[in-house]
Amino acid sequence: MAYAYDDQNIFAKILRGEIPNDTVLETEHTLAFRDIAPKAPDHVLVIPKGTYVTLDHFCAEASDAEIVDFNRAVAQVCKMIGAEPGHGGEGFRAISNAGENGVQEVPHFHMHILAGRPLGPMLLMR
Ligand code: 5GP
Repeated sequence: MAYAYDDQNIFAKILRGEIPNDTVLETEHTLAFRDIAPKAPDHVLVIPKGTYVTLDHFCAEASDAEIVDFNRAVAQVCKMIGAEPGHGGEGFRAISNAGENGVQEVPHFHMHILAGRPLGPMLLMR
């Protein structure tokens, strides 16, 4: 089944400039902005400007240029917030929730970059 993109989702509205955001970085294909309800001292959302619903959708259908631009933007954001472990930063966690089991709230692919404190265990098994 094809991915159905809802152009009324909140990140689509942010990309169209209908809702304000706290931009950290903007590139040709990517926007990074601070999460409105941060779960860590640094909580940045990195999103492609293209209409992709989930990480797997993006990886399957985005152009090489979009994929490279997105990943370089993730690296740039980690640098900007001082979280790069290889360069004196204390690290970060990258999370992308997808679909129902992933408990994805906004159906526009996004990567959460969380940093600024020890983030604890990844998940609890239950
Ligand atoms: P998800 O659960 O889809 O992985 O995460 C969606 C994220 O988007 C949540 O962390 C939520 O706080 C954030 N969010 C929802 N609405 C807005 C908004 O209008 N602006 C910003 N900056 N973040 C939002």
